[in-house]
Amino acid sequence: MIRPAVHAAMGRIQTGAPQSEDLGLLLCLVDPDEVALLHATACLVRTAYCQGRIALRALVEISSVCRNSCLYCGLNRYNRHASRYMMDEDEILHCVGEAVGQGYRTVVLQSGEDGRSAESIAHMIAQIKRKYPIAITLSLGERSYEDYQLWKRAGADRYLLRVESTDAELYRTLHTDRTLSSRLECLGNLRTLGYQVGSGIMVGVPGQTVSTIAGDIQFFCSNQFDMIGIGPFIPHAETPLAGSPRGDVLLTLNTIAVIRIATKYPWMPATTALGSLNRDYRLDGLLAGANVIMPNFTPSAYKSQYAIYPNKQSETDSAESLEYLARSVGLTIDYGRCDSLLV
Ligand code: SAH
Repeated sequence: MIRPAVHAAMGRIQTGAPQSEDLGLLLCLVDPDEVALLHATACLVRTAYCQGRIALRALVEISSVCRNSCLYCGLNRYNRHASRYMMDEDEILHCVGEAVGQGYRTVVLQSGEDGRSAESIAHMIAQIKRKYPIAITLSLGERSYEDYQLWKRAGADRYLLRVESTDAELYRTLHTDRTLSSRLECLGNLRTLGYQVGSGIMVGVPGQTVSTIAGDIQFFCSNQFDMIGIGPFIPHAETPLAGSPRGDVLLTLNTIAVIRIATKYPWMPATTALGSLNRDYRLDGLLAGANVIMPNFTPSAYKSQYAIYPNKQSETDSAESLEYLARSVGLTIDYGRCDSLLV
């Protein structure tokens, strides 16, 4: 039995400016029939606005060095037990070459805030662009307008910077030496510079409530991101949040579905965090409206060192397993660049 209030809320959140109460009601669904309806609706919206395809992005984690101190992250600068590496340009080019050889047309270069010079990153971007016909997505944290501009001019196409939380107080408790306003300023600068911009949140970080998630979703609706990444919080033993419970899987999946229905167009990964729990929930992420998979192309010597949370799934999914995953949810793999669907 689907409650009439659920039907009504699902209709209203499609209108572009969803109310917090409607979002909260849908995020909290647990009844199997209601959950099935929510996720199936998200899949219908995905088919209508994004077509039935999964974009592939090759993830290369280029450095585990970080000057930031996000309380949830195993790479935060106070974690003395973290192993730190920094790949050089040749190593990065080699990894990108492997992904291109396997048919990928996008790489995501991610790292901690490692203090690498802006010029060296610009040089690396230009080298990749000279060699390979691919889109470059950066996910290197907060930098100045000038750095972002230099990288855009060197050929970078996209940037991922999760807002983490739009609740200023919650943001402050999770980041000891950063503010929400600097995060928002970075997101604004990236947009101004013409990047395709991705954002997102973790679900289940300590202090977060359904109403703060609803606020984050309203922010995604009013800012129209090209990409939105949602994953469960996973506690890391060497962080101040070690004893906190991990994010709830169903709440994470409902968040993906609600964002898909409310924002329609963004590329949304079935995140690595969803694939790193007691089983691989990336399939469930796809069935809740996600449409991106990011296989890991970090060299195996470094993979285990990029430990933002424990037991991070880091297998490079084979072409066969990706095809199987896509077929099992009725989607097809798109090996193209898969640029923004926002007009
Ligand atoms: N330094 C970059 C990349 C951070 S890692 C940046 O600041 O954007 C990418 C994402 O992993 C983060 O944005 C965060 O949302 C997520 N993450 C970090 N620690 C996590 C944890 N313990 N559990 C789940 N996700 C986590």
